[in-house]
Amino acid sequence: MCIFCKIVNGEIPNRTVLENENFLAFEDINPACKIHVLVIPKEHYDSFDVIPPKIMAEMTEFIHKIASKLNIRENGYRLITNIKEDGGQEVHHLHFHILAGERVGRLVCKETV
Ligand code: AMP
Repeated sequence: MCIFCKIVNGEIPNRTVLENENFLAFEDINPACKIHVLVIPKEHYDSFDVIPPKIMAEMTEFIHKIASKLNIRENGYRLITNIKEDGGQEVHHLHFHILAGERVGRLVCKETV
C-alpha cells in the first residue's frame, strides 16, 4: 500500500486541513513554502495522468474550499501536480501541492538554471 493510502487509512498520522468523503488535504511534512498543503483523492490513482475528469471536477471544488479555508484566494497560490519521472513525482498517489503564504519562486527546469 502506498504512503498516502496509509495516511487515508489512518496508519500514518497527518495534520489534516480539510476532509470530506472522497478527498483529504493535509500539511506537507517538508514544507517548501509558509503554507504547503497536499490534496489527494482517497481512492488511489497513480497520478493526474490517469484521473477520470469527473473526479477531477470534484477535486477542483474541494481545492477551492481549501483555498477559502486558508484565506489565500485574494493573494493567490500555486497549484502543482508532478507526474511521473520527468515531472519529479516521488509519491505515486495523485496529489496537488498548494503553495501559498508568500510569493513563490519562478518555475524552472534544473537543466536551464
Ligand atoms: P512529489 O514530489 O510531488 O511526489 O511530492 C511528494 C510530497 O509528499 C513531498 O513534498 C513530501 O514532503 C510529501 N510527503 C511525503 N511523505 C509525507 C507524509 N507522511 N506526510 C506529509 N507529506 C509527506
